Amino acid sequence: MSDLARFFVPGPTWVRPEILQEMTRPMIGHRTPEFRDLFHRVNANLKPLFDTNGDTFVITSSGTGVMEAALDNCVARRVLVTTCGAFSERWFNIAQSLGYEVDRLDVPWGNAIDPEELADRLESRRAHYDAVTFTHNETSTGVTNDIAELAAVVREESPDTLVLVDAVSSLAGIPVHFDAWQLDICFASVQKGLALPPGITVAAVSERAIEHAKKRPYRGTYFDFLKYKSNADDDSVPSTPSLPHFYALAKQLDDIVKVEGLDARFERHRTMRDITHERTSRYAKIAADREHASATVSALAPVKSPDEIRNAMKQRGFTLGGGYGSWKATTFRIGHMGDISIDALNAMLDVLDEVTR
Ligand SMILES: *Cc1c(COP(=O)(O)O)cnc(C)c1O
Repeated sequence: MSDLARFFVPGPTWVRPEILQEMTRPMIGHRTPEFRDLFHRVNANLKPLFDTNGDTFVITSSGTGVMEAALDNCVARRVLVTTCGAFSERWFNIAQSLGYEVDRLDVPWGNAIDPEELADRLESRRAHYDAVTFTHNETSTGVTNDIAELAAVVREESPDTLVLVDAVSSLAGIPVHFDAWQLDICFASVQKGLALPPGITVAAVSERAIEHAKKRPYRGTYFDFLKYKSNADDDSVPSTPSLPHFYALAKQLDDIVKVEGLDARFERHRTMRDITHERTSRYAKIAADREHASATVSALAPVKSPDEIRNAMKQRGFTLGGGYGSWKATTFRIGHMGDISIDALNAMLDVLDEVTR
């Protein structure tokens, strides 16, 4: 790593120069042996990243497109949306825009979804849900939901309901165990924990989700998971992919899985969270429930005005994230995810320490 990162926004995140460089490689046809090799290399590493033996897709779209696709492919009529902040709310808005019957299970901002409340809701439901949506890491509040436990509740209470998980700001920073947790769709756009420029999304899709998609008469064309599946079986994608992203993703996944290693990467993220909590406690409170505080992003409620702090940091060359939605005026956010190093985080916190004195 040439220079220390100065960009601490919780998405898009700082991208290493050598990854940016990969994006300048010459074009190849996407129906060629060269692309097959690239596709194969990417998917071989996506499987350990999601911890799955099943299908993994690379979709040329930001994460929001794949949220819509997940609902389109899997939901016939009714969906339960769990919300704990702005990004989980996005599931609700998309489901409504698609004309589904949408129920919601809300917890206040800063809290995690409670498995017992979910169990009660599923037990007392009057109608069958085709799917339940979750947000693994709520980026607006810095809360990580316990997907293992929540998915187990769905499997127990409503075995044929699909579990759809937004892992945009957790994947590659916080462990995901797609097969063991029995998830049906899990996805992440690449500009957060994967530390690539924005533009594509990676996803894991279960056989059960594919079976549901087969029963949906109209799934659209661009995001049709059955087309993704039949093309993937042939080491390809349905339409022209963002090839520069494929090059960058291939190198980044090699580096994550084979050079740093997943366990070391998750450990680095937990360490960055702990350092952030400890080194900001003089001038700010962690806005989220501590027990569920995220390893990839911290929302901080400072004594001073968050805008003043961010502006002062900007003048020193450091970019921090603003507060989000109803927490906009009272918080700022530090993204400690992706390829941010512990040294870079400490160097930024040194300056934050001066600015808050
Ligand atoms: C950033 C983010 C999104 C939005 O993803 P896009 O790639 O911008 O569409 C969705 N969910 C979460 C949890 C996010 O952090």
